[in-house]
Amino acid sequence: MLLDSHGRQATKLRISVTDRCNFRCTYCMPEEGLVWQDRAALLSYEEILRLARLFVDLGVTQIRLTGGEPLLRRDLPVLVKGLKALPGLQKLAITTNGTLLEQLGPALYAAGLRSFNISLDSLDPVRFQASVRRDALQQVLNGLHSLSRWPDCEVKLNTVVVRGHNEDEAVAFARLARLHGWQARFIEFMPLGQDDAWAQHSVVPGEELRQAIDRVYPLKMLAPAGKNPAARWGFVDGTPGEVGFINSVTEPFCHSCNRIRLTADGQLRTCLFSLRETDLKSPLRQGLGDAELIARIQDAIWQKEAGHLIAQPQFERPLRTMSRIGG
Ligand code: SAM
Ligand code: SF4
Repeated sequence: MLLDSHGRQATKLRISVTDRCNFRCTYCMPEEGLVWQDRAALLSYEEILRLARLFVDLGVTQIRLTGGEPLLRRDLPVLVKGLKALPGLQKLAITTNGTLLEQLGPALYAAGLRSFNISLDSLDPVRFQASVRRDALQQVLNGLHSLSRWPDCEVKLNTVVVRGHNEDEAVAFARLARLHGWQARFIEFMPLGQDDAWAQHSVVPGEELRQAIDRVYPLKMLAPAGKNPAARWGFVDGTPGEVGFINSVTEPFCHSCNRIRLTADGQLRTCLFSLRETDLKSPLRQGLGDAELIARIQDAIWQKEAGHLIAQPQFERPLRTMSRIGG
């Protein structure tokens, strides 16, 4: 088991497959982009699968592929297929900006992927472009709607809400969720970008959005945040679809955090806001055996942080952007 010294068990692993991205979201990356890591620095699929197998043997039941933009990594369906074959893995999901989904969705579906989180900050093309610095709303919507051909896929929308930019679209996203039976999730803006774009006053508390939606579409709680980062709410009138609120800043759920992250360059991070990482790539490449790798993993997780310190004077922003951590 992967226990930490605060009594929590790590059961969810996010694997970043690349630090590259075709967007430049204002809250994530600078406009000019970042210096991409050399391909040789990234874990190969073989290396990812070896580590994933160890994590699953140690009690991880869910894996999420992320990035950067994960669909930019060549032959991603090969990795999906390999992960799907891991005995003990209950769920495999992906978080994507959706630009390549229309094109790559069929191969990912054929490889066994059934759970898609699509990031979508605005339904207005001008606002969307301002947010991601690319004119690509229609492309993302095409990708999103292309998933409708597979009714057995779980679809969630991720919207990072920034004050003065998109908080007035909460009801429109809830309407979309009702129309298609999706889950529309609102993520509080976190201090992880490199642009210094974050400020406390830019954070829109999820509760404010929940109340705005509730006034139009009355909501009932389905599950509080805890094992899942999102507090989930359904519609009182029984319409399918849900809304979720990831209130990482105003209502931190660190006490029940069950998530860990593996960066594309093979570093284990026990918290989004970790200031330290555990190198798994070097020992892997030096030929360490499973037992030694497991000891390294267990030791890192035992030292998992109690919680983040956002908005407190001691808070230190991690050096990596969200795109380099794997959000
Ligand atoms: N490129 C993919 C995408 O955007 O879906 C996957 C990687 S992205 C880093 C994962 C998620 O992190 C996205 O939903 C994105 O909106 C979110 N994110 C990035 N920076 C953030 C920030 N500063 N605060 C809150 N969420 C953030
Ligand atoms: Fe790229 Fe995702 Fe970061 Fe946007 S949030 S810049 S899509 S990695």
